[in-house]
Amino acid sequence: MNLSRCISPLKKLKNKHNLLLFFTYSTTTTTTTTINANKPTQPSPPPIQVLLTESAGRGVFATRRIGAGDLIHTEKPIVSYPSQSLVHSVCYFCLKRLGNNKDSLQGHSVKFCSNECREQAKGFYEIEERVDWSAYDEHCRKLGLKYPLLVKRLACMVVSGAASAQCLDILQPARLLTQMILEMEDEFSLLKSCLMKANFKDEQMACILFLTKEWYTGVLARIRINAFRIDVAGGSSYEDLFLSAAASVEAEASVGNAVYMLSSFYNHDCDTNAHIIWIENVNARLKALRDIEEGEELRICYIDASMEHNARQNILFEGFGFRCGCNRCLSGD
Ligand SMILES: [Zn+2]
Ligand SMILES: [Zn+2]
Repeated sequence: MNLSRCISPLKKLKNKHNLLLFFTYSTTTTTTTTINANKPTQPSPPPIQVLLTESAGRGVFATRRIGAGDLIHTEKPIVSYPSQSLVHSVCYFCLKRLGNNKDSLQGHSVKFCSNECREQAKGFYEIEERVDWSAYDEHCRKLGLKYPLLVKRLACMVVSGAASAQCLDILQPARLLTQMILEMEDEFSLLKSCLMKANFKDEQMACILFLTKEWYTGVLARIRINAFRIDVAGGSSYEDLFLSAAASVEAEASVGNAVYMLSSFYNHDCDTNAHIIWIENVNARLKALRDIEEGEELRICYIDASMEHNARQNILFEGFGFRCGCNRCLSGD
């Protein structure tokens, strides 16, 4: 992510000869338009494509006109993890807030909102529950670390065969300072010692070979700039509203963090034409904020857009490593 990713969409499209890769993202998601809201909807590929240019990084572009308010696509995360303070009050798989106990199905120490989530969680949970994570979890809690918990879950997915050790490689990594790498190496040693003490079958033990310092720091470097903080928009009941109010007083308002593939390809803009929202769980919904023309780049805002120019520039540089050159920043707003 750098300044060149924020050049105008027109300029980007004129440089088509620079395209290294041109592909249409295809998923099983359903797109709907407000016009056809009353008709049964057919699953269709989302109206976007990801273009990779030599100079401007990746970006997401509209393949047809998209109307203001339209759902562009939905996306499930590659990996997610609940906020530590809410680990017993949200679904351990989809991060949906659990209103009361009768809606949740008891696990050993965590809860799931449905049998479907419990089933899908097997990809990491069957490994995770055979390991004593207390030293690692305590380390994260003490230092207020969220991202190493995503790495822990991903490591369990890799051991169980549910994910490839390279599944995040396509995402751009953050630049790491030496001090950060040293801290990560301590975490890595903790993670590895927890896994090594577990009573795994031989073939699972062999799988742990992927777990090197380089793997750990590489994954964390990608998670650092690609993870989304999940703020579920409003609850469906008074109880949910109460829970979210209580949660924000107690600790974090966010239900957790997650990493997505396609959503990570959206570039930033301080005056954006699309946004990412979560209605009840970790499944993301990308929506158009205004009418978007065919060929136009779709961008989301990585930060709180209500901040002033200098504050935005500082946060984007420190957090994401680029100076924003969007039209709003160029105008000095
Ligand atoms: Zn769930
Ligand atoms: Zn900007």
